[in-house]
Amino acid sequence: MSIDRPPVDKAALRRKYAEERDKRLRADGNEQYLRIDGKLAHYLNDPYTAVAARPPRTDHVTFAFIGGGFAGLATAARLKEAGVADVRIVEKGGDFGGTWYWNRYPGAQCDTASMVYMPLLEETGHRPSEKYAHGPEILAHCQRIGTQYGLYAQALFHTEVTDLAWDAAQHRWRITTNRGDAFTAQFIGLGTGPLHVPKLPGIAGIDSFTGHSFHTSRWDYDYTGGDRFGAPLTRLADKRVGIIGTGATSVQCVPHLARACRELFVFQRTPSSVDVRANAPIDPEWFADIATAGWQQRWLENFTANQAGGGADVDLVQDGWTELGKRIREKIQMLPKEQRTLENMRAAFEDADFEKMEEIRQRADKIVGDYATAQKLKAWYRQLCKRPCFHDSYLQAFNLPSTRLIDTDGRGVEAITPDGVVVAGVEYRLDCLIFASGFEVGTAYVRRAGFDLIGRGGQRLSEHWAKGMRSLHGIHVHGFPNAFFVQSTQGANLISNVPHNLTDSGRTIAAVVASAIAQGHQEIEVTEAAEDAWVSLLLTSVGRMAGGPDCTPGYYNNEGRDPGPAARLNVGYPEGPKAYFAYIDAWRRTGTFAGLHFR
Ligand code: NDP
Repeated sequence: MSIDRPPVDKAALRRKYAEERDKRLRADGNEQYLRIDGKLAHYLNDPYTAVAARPPRTDHVTFAFIGGGFAGLATAARLKEAGVADVRIVEKGGDFGGTWYWNRYPGAQCDTASMVYMPLLEETGHRPSEKYAHGPEILAHCQRIGTQYGLYAQALFHTEVTDLAWDAAQHRWRITTNRGDAFTAQFIGLGTGPLHVPKLPGIAGIDSFTGHSFHTSRWDYDYTGGDRFGAPLTRLADKRVGIIGTGATSVQCVPHLARACRELFVFQRTPSSVDVRANAPIDPEWFADIATAGWQQRWLENFTANQAGGGADVDLVQDGWTELGKRIREKIQMLPKEQRTLENMRAAFEDADFEKMEEIRQRADKIVGDYATAQKLKAWYRQLCKRPCFHDSYLQAFNLPSTRLIDTDGRGVEAITPDGVVVAGVEYRLDCLIFASGFEVGTAYVRRAGFDLIGRGGQRLSEHWAKGMRSLHGIHVHGFPNAFFVQSTQGANLISNVPHNLTDSGRTIAAVVASAIAQGHQEIEVTEAAEDAWVSLLLTSVGRMAGGPDCTPGYYNNEGRDPGPAARLNVGYPEGPKAYFAYIDAWRRTGTFAGLHFR
């Protein structure tokens, strides 16, 4: 069934999108951002937990996992369930949680439905309180997993790995850290996440600002007042506050700032697309009814089928993500079967996108009272060029007299002075400047991890991946025995629900490791042939349907710069996430784990 929607002028929209993209293209791409160190290093300090003194560890564990976010927690939980008793998580934050440890800004909330976003809900018996849970609940859930699976006793917090090297003679990894630890592990897991290194914009004068400033992932409640549970930011009542950045983070915290500040200046380079959120409490009785054995896996599969293709009779989650998938399918189904070529399907996808984005732009007109401000808040690009945002009080915040949108027409902030921020020659004097400028994505894996892996024969991971990532299933890498990567690329690559990729990999790793231990094997390694075959299969993928060079710059498209041939490998299973999850489940169930060599 098709829904009547007003026609759109596609040619005009394509022109407008290209114009807006061209304004924002810059020669320095990822290099425009500053690495936080030296004079700026204080932006990384942990404002939440004091660093506790502890003696260095020099022992041996069966499994060490680098990163205590969802990847580490889900993998460790599955390992424990599979009988691996000593699992040590090494984490740079002061507790478990990863993203949810660091991002405590007011209004932080998941934007994929809690029922599928929060891992291990069924195992922990936790009922999410809302369709989209807020940060404190998600952090508490991470701690719940840590407690339930006995992960705290072995964990090393406020600890960063400095070196990871394979010791072939002892069949184990040697791990050293910035806290003086030098311990060994038979197996290692890597869940360092794609978005854990905060970045600052390379704006002239950034280190000259004499007011207060911080990055959103290190929120300073001592300065702002209020708390992460949503208490008003009372200490801002007499302050002029600026926020640089209008991505997913800013969309969530601006409403809180707008209510609290004497004056709030939102410095915008590119507007986000902000669709309806429609959050609601989860009814305990409804939840009790649906939470029968296996419920979360059913929900995960249903979300993936609706969102990423594959078809499902019902849509359990029903949100902006599943709607996006359904709209595209609806367009494709309108094509006669014989006309469903790749080209026509791409065109259908574009049509669905134009319509959706028109709706989102009209939403700005409906909500924002000031006409000129509403125009500036409209996003002129395809919805998946940037992380789609959903919020029911962001656009409304611009109706408050204290809030001003300072649009830079794609050019970005010009300069930062000791007193404030300059845009188009005008200085905006500020008491406080907040950087909602995001996290490193397009930089090299080893730069973001903070260490290189030294595998068999002294080979470095950076060398093995010099021409692009190579793996089997995104998990196993030839030359790096007993090491497992927990991330989305070269696996399901399901971007709409990242945790699903991670929890599924945790299951795979636990199955493989438990099998090796049961059979007395010391080493597990993907064969070169299996890795080559997987990479060849990935190269048959038609590539991404969105987020390409036509998009406005952002971290989804390497800031609009040609990422080179290596990026061709940053893809997922050619048949899509649903097919991948089915494939890998069958692979696991065989118990023979084709492609892996056990020694
Ligand atoms: P983003 O990278 O999405 O946003 C950074 C912002 O800073 C952009 O608006 C960018 O503009 C702007 N910026 C950069 N340089 C300048 C400059 N010189 N002048 C003015 N503005 C500038 O970071 P976020 O922290 O918002 O989000 C990162 C990711 O984290 C999200 O995409 C999402 O994946 C995740 N996230 C998820 C949430 C959730 O699930 N609920 C919530 C928050 C984040 P431009 O767009 O032009 O580059």
